[in-house]
Amino acid sequence: MEILQLKSWFEGVEKYPFIIAGPCSAESEEQIISIASFLASTGKINLFRAGVWKPRTRPGTFQGAGVKALKWLRRAKDEYNLRIAVEVAFPEHVEVCLKHGIDVFWIGARTVSNPFSVEELSAALRGVDIPVLVKNPLSPDIDLWQGAVERIYAAGVRKIAAVHRGFSPFERTLYRNMPKWEIPIELRQRIINLPVICDPSHISGKAEYVPEIAQKALDLTMSGLMIEVHPNPSGAFSDSAQQLTFDQFRSLMSTLVIRKPTIEDQGFLNQLEELRNQIDSIDFQLIELLASRMKISGKMGKYKYRNNVAVLQMERWLEILRTRGEHGSHLGLDPPFVERVLNFIHQESIRIQTNILNNLKTNGEHWSEEE
Ligand code: PEP
Ligand code: MN
Repeated sequence: MEILQLKSWFEGVEKYPFIIAGPCSAESEEQIISIASFLASTGKINLFRAGVWKPRTRPGTFQGAGVKALKWLRRAKDEYNLRIAVEVAFPEHVEVCLKHGIDVFWIGARTVSNPFSVEELSAALRGVDIPVLVKNPLSPDIDLWQGAVERIYAAGVRKIAAVHRGFSPFERTLYRNMPKWEIPIELRQRIINLPVICDPSHISGKAEYVPEIAQKALDLTMSGLMIEVHPNPSGAFSDSAQQLTFDQFRSLMSTLVIRKPTIEDQGFLNQLEELRNQIDSIDFQLIELLASRMKISGKMGKYKYRNNVAVLQMERWLEILRTRGEHGSHLGLDPPFVERVLNFIHQESIRIQTNILNNLKTNGEHWSEEE
């Protein structure tokens, strides 16, 4: 695929990393102008972002200001000499944005999750020379993400970048979305030269975690960052916990350690380094899964105490060994290896349950680990 690099998207884009910033949602003309004025004054951004139509998980929440916001954005563009990016989900969005001089489109995670929608958007983009950012789908399905990039490319769009915004977790995690860094790394291996921009705001879900994720993305030589900024995050109509104040944005820009990738690894590191980064990410997820498993073991310990059930139940254990062993061999793992790993995990689980049992016996029913 012949994808045009970010620096050739517009005139004067020499800066690395490519910074996209702006509010989650356009809320009012005043809000847009205040953010545009601030961000323009930093001289750090390549692109101003704002959501005009908001795909909300639950009904009854702010759906976006709609078409009238495009006029506010036009004013921000003209008065502060900014380029503007807006999320599009329907062909009608594309049409009305083009009329209002929007410079870049992004396709949101929920829309990318649906190939019908991406197909419709790609038809609407045919013959339109405008850069398109493709966010990752909600689930860690790399084929779906790759497919969306390919569909947009097939429409003739050559200015394409992927945006890594993390993946919906199965259960609550520290971050709002799991980064699973191995996935954007693999996407870069599959589509050579595809710029990948990280969105630490949607990964973190919390302003305080934005800097560590932004730094990690730069350490992995991602091409840029998309960051939500709001004059008063706590009063924001959407994503209030994760948007940075002006001061936080300024301080992030001054503390990020930027190592400009060399020509050879622009866009992707050498193969070994990339594989190591993928392994690192998977190891951390293994540890997180183990921690979740042990937490449940703790709960089982309490349950077993209350119901007077023995900690070790041989039948259940044999069943675990058998089913996991079978699953492992389907996936090409050596059965004795799977058995050893399970034994280790099981021993730790028994230790945790026995501890809890002993504590409950000594300190009574109301004892809890937190105390
Ligand atoms: C957004 O960028 O505000 C947004 C809705 O993002 P995502 O599609 O990644 O959830
Ligand atoms: Mn948002």
